[in-house]
Amino acid sequence: MRLQQGVEYSHSILTEQLFEGANVVDATVGNGNDTEFLAKLVGAEGQVWGFDIQKQAIERTKGKLMKSGFLERVTLIQADHQKLAQYISEEVDGILFNLGYLPGTDKDITTTIKTTLRAVKAGLDILVKGGVMVIVIYTGHQAGKEEAEALLQYATNLNYKEYNVLHYQFINQASKPPEVMVIKKRG
Ligand code: SAH
Repeated sequence: MRLQQGVEYSHSILTEQLFEGANVVDATVGNGNDTEFLAKLVGAEGQVWGFDIQKQAIERTKGKLMKSGFLERVTLIQADHQKLAQYISEEVDGILFNLGYLPGTDKDITTTIKTTLRAVKAGLDILVKGGVMVIVIYTGHQAGKEEAEALLQYATNLNYKEYNVLHYQFINQASKPPEVMVIKKRG
């Protein structure tokens, strides 16, 4: 077998978790690769909410979804993902975060410890029992490393009676490949 790298692993988890008609959140739309992937998984009856603070990301993704015919099942929201509960009044089956900054754009527009922790908490509140939150974390840059540490500390202290938490990471690479955290709300 082949060991899956982080992003691939995040997709595997969500492929197992989601189903036709599922509700899912893409908390960091970026170029829309994950949004498109999620839209495909939930089918025509499913719903995807996609958040990004950058107009450019929302517009790029809109174009991509129009081309693939998935736009109808996706609600794109240009807003901080900390506020996700203001836009979603249902429980969701899955939530994906792909942290950091958008490759090829302004590196100053990035997720931060404070905003990410708040968004994770807000996300867990609307996650259905049995649902999963998947977080792809980039530790190759200093801010990302600190963000990962804060997330690990937060998730380590989640009550095991309510959540199961998994940390997926290659530990002997020369570069720092993305890590994945999976938080499952116990049913
Ligand atoms: N999943 C994307 C890559 C995401 S890059 C893909 O498949 O292409 C991270 C994105 O998070 C960036 O586009 C950035 O604008 C966005 N972002 C940063 N802070 C945010 C916040 N507080 N709320 C919502 N989006 C944020």
